[in-house]
Amino acid sequence: MNVLVTGGAGYIGSHTVVELLNAGYGVVVVDDLSNAKADVIDRIETITGKRPAFYEMDCKDKDGLRKVFSEHKIDAIIHFAAFKAVGESVRKPLEYYRNNLDSAMTMLEVMEEFGCKKFVFSSSATVYGPNNPHPYKEDMKAIESSSPYGWTKVMIERILTDYVTAHPDFCAVLLRYFNPIGSHDSGLLGDDPNGIPNNLMPYIARVAAGQLEKLTIFGGDYPTPDGTCQRDYLHVVDLAVGHLRALEYAKDHEGVEAVNLGTGNGVSVLELVHAFEKANNMKLPYVIGPRRDGDLPAFWADAEKAKKLFGWEATHTVEDMCRSAWEFAKKSAGK
Ligand code: UDP
Repeated sequence: MNVLVTGGAGYIGSHTVVELLNAGYGVVVVDDLSNAKADVIDRIETITGKRPAFYEMDCKDKDGLRKVFSEHKIDAIIHFAAFKAVGESVRKPLEYYRNNLDSAMTMLEVMEEFGCKKFVFSSSATVYGPNNPHPYKEDMKAIESSSPYGWTKVMIERILTDYVTAHPDFCAVLLRYFNPIGSHDSGLLGDDPNGIPNNLMPYIARVAAGQLEKLTIFGGDYPTPDGTCQRDYLHVVDLAVGHLRALEYAKDHEGVEAVNLGTGNGVSVLELVHAFEKANNMKLPYVIGPRRDGDLPAFWADAEKAKKLFGWEATHTVEDMCRSAWEFAKKSAGK
C-alpha cells in the first residue's frame, strides 16, 4: 500500500513516515519545506534504511499533485501540510485560510480524479473550542475555535464531512491531536521550529541548551491545582503510531470518523518543567509571567474512542517525552 504524506518532513509528519516505512508501507512525501529542512529525508533514511520518494512542492499546486499521482499509485493520504502557528494566524488570517483550506481541497480534487478514497486528516483538539467541558469527547457539539488556525481545522473537518456525504464510499478520519512532544529515540528527528519557539517543549529545550535564558510560564493563577495550565501531552511516536492505526481502519471502512489522540491525562506546565528537570538531571530557570491571550486553563482527551475503534493507546510516559526531547535538542545544539 502506498501512502502520500503531505508535510512529511515536518515534526509529526517525519515521525509518521518512519513508522509507515518500518511497517512496510510505500511512502511518498510532499513538503514545500516552508517549515522543515530537506535533510529530514536523509535522517528518515538513516533511521529506517529506506528512502521515501520526495517532492519539494506546495500542496496547492494541482498539476504538481497530478504528477505525483501519475508517477505513483497512491492508495491513501495522510494530510499534515498546513500553517500551524496560532499567534501568526491571528495576524495573517487570509494566508492561513488560503493555504490550509486550498491545500486540503486541492488534494481532494486530485484524489477524486485518480480514484483515491482514503484520507487521514491532521486535526486538533482546538476544534473543541472554548465552551466544552473536559475531558473532550468526539461527539461534543460545539465545534469551533479561538484562532484562524483553529478555524481552518474546523472548516476542513466540515469539508471532509460534507465530501463523505456526497461520496459515501470515501473514508475520512479526522485525528484530533492533543499536545505532542518528545522525539524519536535516535535523536535525529524532533520539534525544531524556526526562530523563537511558541510551544512549551521546544522552548524548554532551548532553555536547557542555554540558547534561551529562561522560560516564562504563562499564568500562575488559573483555577488548576498548582495555578498553571493543564494539557494532555503525548509522545510524538505514540501519535505517529496512531496514524498507522487510523490508516488500517480507513482501509476497511467508509464514512467519516473524528478520533482523539491523547493520553487522557492532564499535566500542568509546572509539572512538565519539574518532570524535565528530573528526567534530565538539571535545573531550568523559569519565571511565572502573565497569562497568554487565548489559552484555556485545562483540557485533556477522553481517549476511549481510539482504543475501541483502532486498538490504539499511548504507551510512553511523561519522563520518556522529556528525556527524548532533550536528546534531540542536545544533538541539534551540538552538545
Ligand atoms: N506555555 C508557557 N510558556 C511558553 C509556552 C507555552 O507557559 O513559553 C504554556 C501555555 O500557556 C500552555 C502550555 O504551555 O498552557 C502549552 O502551550 P503550547 O503552546 O505548547 O500548546 P497549546 O496547548 O497552546 O496548543
